[in-house]
Amino acid sequence: MLTVQRLEAGYGESVILRDVSLTVEPGQVVCLMGRNGVGKSTLVKSIMGLLKARQGSVSFKGSDVTKRAPGERARRGIGYVPQGREIFSQLSVYENLRIGLEANRDSAKRKSRDIPAVAVEKFPILPTFYDRRGGDLSGGQQQQLAFARALISEPELLLLDEPTEGIQPSIVEAIQDVIRSIRDEGKTAILLVEQSLDFVRSVGDRFYIMEKGSIVWQGGREEL
Ligand code: ATP
Ligand code: MG
Repeated sequence: MLTVQRLEAGYGESVILRDVSLTVEPGQVVCLMGRNGVGKSTLVKSIMGLLKARQGSVSFKGSDVTKRAPGERARRGIGYVPQGREIFSQLSVYENLRIGLEANRDSAKRKSRDIPAVAVEKFPILPTFYDRRGGDLSGGQQQQLAFARALISEPELLLLDEPTEGIQPSIVEAIQDVIRSIRDEGKTAILLVEQSLDFVRSVGDRFYIMEKGSIVWQGGREEL
């Protein structure tokens, strides 16, 4: 499904990722760990096609996302929860959710309030906020909104960049449950960037540790 092969990538002249390889398959939660600034978010952005590969490749369902022209870096099939949430504070919750729909051409024609059940099933609290401005939600509520938005296009690949950063334990648990239930449905490949060892232990199938832009360790649950 997702294969990153010997990827080298960075910003402008600076190389951040060196020789990074990893794979994620549907029904699997792959966890990426490492200290601040080692390049985890950079790797996630590369997978989103936001950075060009200097060397190596990022292949999603058989095509190389880093070779797409800038204009057509379609996120089709990929759900992304960026680090720091990126909620539009002036837009309502409902409008924020619709952004997830727009990314998916198949469901773009849905103009009414029928937000696909998948998002509301996983985050039942959302409809109670539909008319609030995104900026008026608490951090935890915004995180749930960002997660729901990523789910709405029913992605085959879900990229979660520190989805529990600054979130209280009860919401962390809710997010754990959502990740597990998506994993158990078996259709979605999940790449999770996460600092908490407890969290990754509870949901992860395979683990990678990054240092200075390279993968320095990988292993399964028994070895962690
Ligand atoms: P954290 O745990 O703090 O989220 P991270 O592992 O996600 O860290 P990245 O955000 O990938 O780290 O950053 C890796 C390196 O790339 C850092 O040295 C950072 O300063 C640099 N960097 C990140 N974004 C940019 C950018 N837009 N332009 C230039 N350098 C950047
Ligand atoms: Mg990061």
